[in-house]
Amino acid sequence: MYDAIVIGAGPSGSSVALALCGQGRAVAIIERSEFPRRKVCGEFMSAINLELLDRLGAGAAIRAKAGPEVRRVALFASGPGIDAGMPRAAGDAFGRALGRDVLDGILLDAARNAGADVFQPCRAVEIIRDGENAAVRISGKDDQRVLTAPVVIAAHGSWEQGKLSTNLPKISAPHDLFGFKAHFKGASLARDLMPLLVFPGGYGGMVWTDQDRMSLSCCIRRDVLARLREKSGAFLSAGQAVHAHIMASCPGTVSSIGGATLDGEWLAAGPIRPGIRPRFADDIFRVGNVAGESHPIIAEGISMALQSGWLLANELARFDRWDRAARVAAGSGYAKAWSRQFATRIRTASVLARIAALPQSNAVMRAFVSWFPESLTIGARLSGKTKALPVLR
Ligand SMILES: Cc1cc2nc3c(=O)[nH]c(=O)nc-3n(C[C@H](O)[C@H](O)[C@H](O)COP(=O)(O)OP(=O)(O)OC[C@H]3O[C@@H](n4cnc5c(N)ncnc54)[C@H](O)[C@@H]3O)c2cc1C
Repeated sequence: MYDAIVIGAGPSGSSVALALCGQGRAVAIIERSEFPRRKVCGEFMSAINLELLDRLGAGAAIRAKAGPEVRRVALFASGPGIDAGMPRAAGDAFGRALGRDVLDGILLDAARNAGADVFQPCRAVEIIRDGENAAVRISGKDDQRVLTAPVVIAAHGSWEQGKLSTNLPKISAPHDLFGFKAHFKGASLARDLMPLLVFPGGYGGMVWTDQDRMSLSCCIRRDVLARLREKSGAFLSAGQAVHAHIMASCPGTVSSIGGATLDGEWLAAGPIRPGIRPRFADDIFRVGNVAGESHPIIAEGISMALQSGWLLANELARFDRWDRAARVAAGSGYAKAWSRQFATRIRTASVLARIAALPQSNAVMRAFVSWFPESLTIGARLSGKTKALPVLR
């Protein structure tokens, strides 16, 4: 019997668990993968999160491992790259990147040290809401059991199929976007630069992360990917085909990773599911990608995951007992706070992603940004990179 059961230990699950443990609540976290595990993600974290991570007690460990400060943004499209300043945030002025194999482990360890019970590797397979309490059936290697709590928080991301009522329905359309990511060693990208890559059928980004690794992540349309693979005669894996396509379309990537070596394999995920979804429904709270997701073109998913966990914990803190009336009131407050914090960046990302997907967009975007380079700084600001967290109760 717990106060809260959190399903998933990505940044959203661990941040909400940490914040609830800080309130003295009994928390269980269920995570299906063994850590460390790599993940499709560009791994950039906006500066504003470092202050939040300090409040959660994980800031020092994350600063000690993260890559260099990202002080400039750039566009790598059809010609030479164009760059502009990253807007400065209050406190830590600039964001940094940290491999998800490191970040997620630090956050989960912090939650464990703060008192959360961690069930890992263990999958949540069913949520049964029954009046005051919910039962969550979990399945490990040799172990099946049922945990109960008044509060259940879905933090399991949005890209995987599953049988939980909070898993998103399957989709399939030619314009679906698949996510790819790889680490490189020996890249020659400037260490303070985060370029946006725009290429036919998709977009991506590069940034220096921890351990002298550079991460390249991107999204590409299902139909474009299928054509690339067909053209390669299926000699190339999907990741290799995407890699070759980006190198052929963005000259900036050739000068950055032409002489670099892959560190590990290409990872793939998706289709990704940008959009705004219910943050509280069927008496279940949702944080991170389950609640809503921006196009990765703005690299704000980790921010939204960490911050949504914090916002929910703050709403729940208003009530000593989490009975049905308290859950409904906390759910309504959380949904409003979530929209205020994230709706603009989700819309900005959607507009940018639509522009990036237009035919010839890499030439058109390049022409526009060469004429108005500050648009890169404005775009970074609109995407929430400097938006402070609300003053919390
Ligand atoms: C190509 C690409 C690049 C990106 N780049 C960036 C970037 O640079 N910066 C940024 O901020 N964001 C980026 N993002 C977005 C970011 O990766 C996500 O928004 C973020 O991972 C969401 O965190 P989360 O905690 O909601 O979910 P996740 O990180 O997906 O974590 C969910 C966890 O739940 C577990 N789980 C799933 N189902 C179950 C179950 N049934 N039982 C138990 N456990 C379960 C999973 O194993 C996983 O560990 C990128 C995304 C893509 C596709």
